[in-house]
Amino acid sequence: MEINRIILRHLKMDLLHPFTTSTGTEADKDFVLVEVQSKSGLSGWAESVAIFSPLYNEETFKTNWHIIDDFLIPLLLQAPINHPDELIERFSSVRGNYMAKAALEGAVWDLYAKENKMSLSKALGGTKDKIEVGISIGIQESEKALLKQVESYVSQGYKRIKIKIKPGFDYELLQAVRKEFPTIPMMADANSAYSLHNIDRLKALDELNLMMIEQPLAHDDIIDHAELQAQLKTPICLDESIHTVEDVRKAIQLGSCKIINIKIGRVGGLSESKRIHDLCAKHDVPVWCGGMLEAGIGRAHNIAITTLPNFTLPGDTAASSRYWAEDIITPEVEVKDGYIYLPEGFGIGYEPNLDNINKFTLESKIINSII
Ligand code: MG
Repeated sequence: MEINRIILRHLKMDLLHPFTTSTGTEADKDFVLVEVQSKSGLSGWAESVAIFSPLYNEETFKTNWHIIDDFLIPLLLQAPINHPDELIERFSSVRGNYMAKAALEGAVWDLYAKENKMSLSKALGGTKDKIEVGISIGIQESEKALLKQVESYVSQGYKRIKIKIKPGFDYELLQAVRKEFPTIPMMADANSAYSLHNIDRLKALDELNLMMIEQPLAHDDIIDHAELQAQLKTPICLDESIHTVEDVRKAIQLGSCKIINIKIGRVGGLSESKRIHDLCAKHDVPVWCGGMLEAGIGRAHNIAITTLPNFTLPGDTAASSRYWAEDIITPEVEVKDGYIYLPEGFGIGYEPNLDNINKFTLESKIINSII
């Protein structure tokens, strides 16, 4: 692949509804959009999922811009590559900064698929033509508000409901939902809001028939999670603690979880996501794709990776209209009867909407290859 130009854009988009988790509330989203152009005239696209503040992990959209611009782009342009998998090694001199790496690597993957006239899904080894969709509901101010939201999404056909919890906003809320919807696949995401001191609150959730509890304990822990999993019937799913396939190997070995949430940004890109998927498949650990309030291009990458066979649980990737008044792709992502159908076309399969991209862009930078 002969990459001759990279365009970084800083976009800011208002969320339709503020989204609250145990770590804070987001009302809008600043993010970096990466466009990688080749001499063939094609463009590959990806979003960085880091947000304005270091609430989810250490990265922000500004640290992403800095790391991509000052370190990763020089590494990408220093020599041609034959396949995007080579970028794991190429970027290995930069520690961490997984979301920054994923944004540039993802754009190269899209370009690679387009140059080879195939969908990104096929390029990654995907086997599905539609994916099951779940919905993630932020922390609501009252039980009534939560029940209203759940009812609305169940009637729209979403395949599972994920409810954000924190101490004091957990058992009673989930119990109320379970009473109204006895059979709906339901899970809870704690975003690290608990410790082993709250173990009784977490054990109480066992009676609610949850598919899983996501990341109950510290964002950087796999040891206490193993102790907790030994005492819980409900499967633990790790999110924040997992950055690499090595983290997954250790978590499986320790018994820290029974399910893994793969977020492309959190693990440094599509190639590492594939490795994690493959290792989990070998150990009969199901995976699913988590969401980071992506705009359409990030959403398209999530859809592509979810077509791999061991993504057997519904993910967080919902319709564009759930989050945005207008999206940055054409057509927008739509959900029909709880499924997203894979778009036709090469690469991510959705066309970047340049009018909207320009409208939401606050700042951009063009980097030309000098090779
Ligand atoms: Mg999570």
